[in-house]
Amino acid sequence: MSMRPSMFIVKLGGSVITHKTQKCCFRNEIMDGLAQQIQRTGKEMILVHGAGSFGHILAKQYSLNDGHQTERQRQGFSRTHACVQELNTLVLRSLHAHDIPAVSLPPHAITLLNNHVLERMEYDIFSEYLQRGFMPVTFGDVVLDTTLTSSICSGDLLVKSLAERFHPEKVVFIVDVDGLYTSNPKQDASATFVETITRDDLERLTTLADKQADVTGGMKGKLDTIKTISSFGIDTVVVNGNKPDRVYNVLMNTPCRATTVVGEPP
Ligand code: ADP
Repeated sequence: MSMRPSMFIVKLGGSVITHKTQKCCFRNEIMDGLAQQIQRTGKEMILVHGAGSFGHILAKQYSLNDGHQTERQRQGFSRTHACVQELNTLVLRSLHAHDIPAVSLPPHAITLLNNHVLERMEYDIFSEYLQRGFMPVTFGDVVLDTTLTSSICSGDLLVKSLAERFHPEKVVFIVDVDGLYTSNPKQDASATFVETITRDDLERLTTLADKQADVTGGMKGKLDTIKTISSFGIDTVVVNGNKPDRVYNVLMNTPCRATTVVGEPP
């Protein structure tokens, strides 16, 4: 197993890099700001990005998460795939504009799910690129599924599997709120911010879904993912990508407003 303790796995939330309610709307300025912060850190990392409105709107429209049974759904699968690939190209373009040697590793070509659970993934290709100084970039995508014909491989699922395999120094989730709160801060004015939290205490947080909730689970799914990552003994940080310098500070281990979920093996 390739352990890379000084590297990071960073998940760029779909709600940060896209306008979630508007189909295929990329937030270029925000992405450029994040690319600039990432470049300044000089850290080794695997970047994973969500599909945001480039994936979820089509995925819902064609009900893609439980496989494709009809010809219309087959069309939906390939169109959704093309759409998230477009988003990936926009992300890469921004990274390249900031001199980051990013390469795309699309899940539909390197992973296979079995009833939503990861069955196979070509991890070696990630290590090969890392060893040569590239930044592998992967993303939420439609993929083949051995029992469901096809399903959706979320960015969060990729983060969990890559964290288990590579054991990074930290996993960072970049979202559109300051971190984790006692409840959804967009819906509950009395939600309080949480600075540090253990895996067990994550149970106490509630997660009312946003109106434009993802087909892949929103914050509720993310909390399950973070629990698993903590059980690998890896710290997770949840940070706001819409605020200047925060991602830079988190990657540099400089204290700033963000939530840390402590890694502790069971
Ligand atoms: P992504 O950008 O990865 O797609 P999501 O939109 O799935 O992220 O999840 C982030 C959203 O989760 C936030 O915008 C927030 O509205 C919502 N949310 C729900 N419950 C919570 C909570 N307890 N703490 C923080 N955010 C929460």
